[in-house]
Amino acid sequence: MLFRPQKAPIDRLVDGYRKFRRTTFPSLQRDFRRLAKEGQSPKILLIGCADSRVSPNLIFATPPGTMFVARNVGNIVPPHDPNTQARSIGAAIEYAVKVLAVTDIVIKGHARCGGVAAMLNRGVNLPETDYLKPWVEIAEPARMLLPADYESLSEEKKRLASELAVIQNSIMNLSGFPWVRERLEAGMLKIHGLHFDMHDGSLMRLDHESGEWAQVR
Ligand SMILES: [Zn+2]
Repeated sequence: MLFRPQKAPIDRLVDGYRKFRRTTFPSLQRDFRRLAKEGQSPKILLIGCADSRVSPNLIFATPPGTMFVARNVGNIVPPHDPNTQARSIGAAIEYAVKVLAVTDIVIKGHARCGGVAAMLNRGVNLPETDYLKPWVEIAEPARMLLPADYESLSEEKKRLASELAVIQNSIMNLSGFPWVRERLEAGMLKIHGLHFDMHDGSLMRLDHESGEWAQVR
């Protein structure tokens, strides 16, 4: 058998680009050209985890121009504080809300989230870090949103409960941004919570009326 050296990761990316250019791009070329000319006007801001398994564009099958996407470790929105060090996510939210005037913000969490696990176990498995531990600690208040029977749950259910709590905590923090709150109260903006499980492809959605999570059928 011939020895075939594994392709370098960057070469796989370039191969992927070539495939996209050959197959996907021609079918979207008109859309891309229109977007290039007119600029973007997405209606949705999606805040999701940076995890490599949960690409929002793949999961929601969205054409270009549909979603303004901000991804970070653990789909965390910190509380409103212009003096915070965590300005990247604040800038993305401000641009989407004030400039793009999105009508919907989606906080998308996912199963087996390493960021949420790191927050829950207080970063014990993390190496000494400059950024990671203080970042996931921002989501600590999510503990208050865990169900009363949390300690009696199986490990899997604990994981799910904490991932849902982190999404809800991000929604609460987001609602506290003054210009987000204004638009929520004026009915110009809605916030949604979604949780994706890559194991079986299932999606859960938060019902704001009941505060319950339900499977999307
Ligand atoms: Zn994650």
